[in-house]
Amino acid sequence: MGNRRNFLKSGLAAAAGLALSPWNTLEAASKKKAKGPGGPVVLSTWKFGIKANEEAWKVLAQNGYALDAVEQGVRIIESDPEERSVGYGGRPDRDGHVTLDACIMDDKANIGAVLCLEHIKNPISVARAVMEKTPHVILAGEGALQFALSQGFKKENLLVPESEREWRTWLKNSEYKPIINIENHDTIGMLALDAQGRLSGACTTSGMAFKMRGRIGDSPIIGAGLYVDQDAGAAVATGHGEEVIRVVGSHLVVMLMSQGLAPDEACKEAVKQIEKKFRLRGKDMKETQIGFLALSPDGRYGAYALQKGFNFALKSKAEPGKLINVPALLP
Ligand code: ASP
Repeated sequence: MGNRRNFLKSGLAAAAGLALSPWNTLEAASKKKAKGPGGPVVLSTWKFGIKANEEAWKVLAQNGYALDAVEQGVRIIESDPEERSVGYGGRPDRDGHVTLDACIMDDKANIGAVLCLEHIKNPISVARAVMEKTPHVILAGEGALQFALSQGFKKENLLVPESEREWRTWLKNSEYKPIINIENHDTIGMLALDAQGRLSGACTTSGMAFKMRGRIGDSPIIGAGLYVDQDAGAAVATGHGEEVIRVVGSHLVVMLMSQGLAPDEACKEAVKQIEKKFRLRGKDMKETQIGFLALSPDGRYGAYALQKGFNFALKSKAEPGKLINVPALLP
């Protein structure tokens, strides 16, 4: 519990200058919670997560590092031209450029991200290189591309004919309209706990199809699209990035877990915060989907969404691979 207390002191409570007692009450409640099954376990957003988890499992089953598992796992989806909301084959922005966003975080709070990266098939590996080989944590656009090329990544055309066709059809009306649960924007977010109990996460996407040039969503933003705290847990987000950023969603989920909420309860609470912000702004959330997925340091997991239709893939020793439908706030 010492670690958890330190986390709280140096985190939210200290920053806000709040008294610690309410947090401590929740902390005491969390001590009573049942212990989870431990690792290894890997979770990924959406159906393509099944394939990604298989790849991550190759690392986890060999007693490997969760960080390697999440990188290898999401690379499979990035490299697949049939998966057209991530990496190679991703749908372009409204000007026809495929721009990719990714971030990665390990158990020691090492972070790396690339924003609006073009021409590189595996942005997650560039994000890891930013983390490990630069004094920075984020590189964007042209600078990110230059760095990737300097690291030996290959420059490629990422716009596959099918995505180009869709974009040309879209140009006829040029109506920007993300579609709920249809994979015109889905992100792969992956969380893993390895056999040694280390947590890591990765998040990678081509973002919203036909977005404005330069638009960045939540996915490469540490705290919004992904957050990992070895003592409290890990979380990833998918769905409309603008809404996730507004509540710093993944960090919020992890903070709630640090206070004793189970992963599913923490995800639900974060979705409720998003709903609250919609109401505050008088905006309609009918056309919006948000999903959070979370994993605790002892191997418990959970998810929650704004609308029905979100699912995630799970693989552990007990579960050889399955897709789980997620409960939703809205009917
Ligand atoms: N979160 C991603 C973005 O806003 C899209 C998604 O996950 O559906 O770019």
